[in-house]
Amino acid sequence: MTLDSQAVCRNIEPISREIVEPGGRWSGRLETGQRLRIVDVEGQQAVDFLCYSAELPLDRLNVPNTVKLNRSLYVTEGCTLYSDRARKMFSVIKDTCGFHDTLAGCCSIEMDLLRYGVRKKTSCRTNFVAELAKWSMSPSDIVSNINFFMRVKFDDAGQVEIAPGVSKAGDYVVLKAEMPVIAMLSNCPQDSNPSAGFQPTSICVEVLPPLADEGTAT
Ligand SMILES: [Zn+2]
Repeated sequence: MTLDSQAVCRNIEPISREIVEPGGRWSGRLETGQRLRIVDVEGQQAVDFLCYSAELPLDRLNVPNTVKLNRSLYVTEGCTLYSDRARKMFSVIKDTCGFHDTLAGCCSIEMDLLRYGVRKKTSCRTNFVAELAKWSMSPSDIVSNINFFMRVKFDDAGQVEIAPGVSKAGDYVVLKAEMPVIAMLSNCPQDSNPSAGFQPTSICVEVLPPLADEGTAT
């Protein structure tokens, strides 16, 4: 952890706080009302994110449901993340970045070889596989994910482009659990496209207690 990382991670008595290095991974269970804060410590990072009902893991993040019900291809403050059964999983209660991707999914060793001709040893997919095993889940539990801080542009013709991220150092997003949920993320190691600024950096992940007052600033 760098001094800068420690400075950005300041907060009031989180339940847990962890620096996740580039290419690292994290998962944890949150109870209803607890909050997950993800900090892009140095800016322009990409964080691949999945979540599962802690009580019924088969009911998991459904990105198309999330897009349809929020009527937005970008996830940001005010949005809700929905499950396969259209249940509320997380509410985005704070977002200092403004753009989080729903289109591009996660990187994988196979896709990196196909797209860039490079054989890598890690990817967000391998991270998800490893992290899912902790919760007795398997690769078949990987579904389309959300990419926090990642910028994917699209136009009226349907052209899609991975663009440099717009997140600044210290930008963060806060998700409030709307059910008991297992959250899982991969701090993307991608250095062959601009999704993580060609130079992946650390993030900070905090689990915070429920707000005493729902109207209190995060
Ligand atoms: Zn990745």
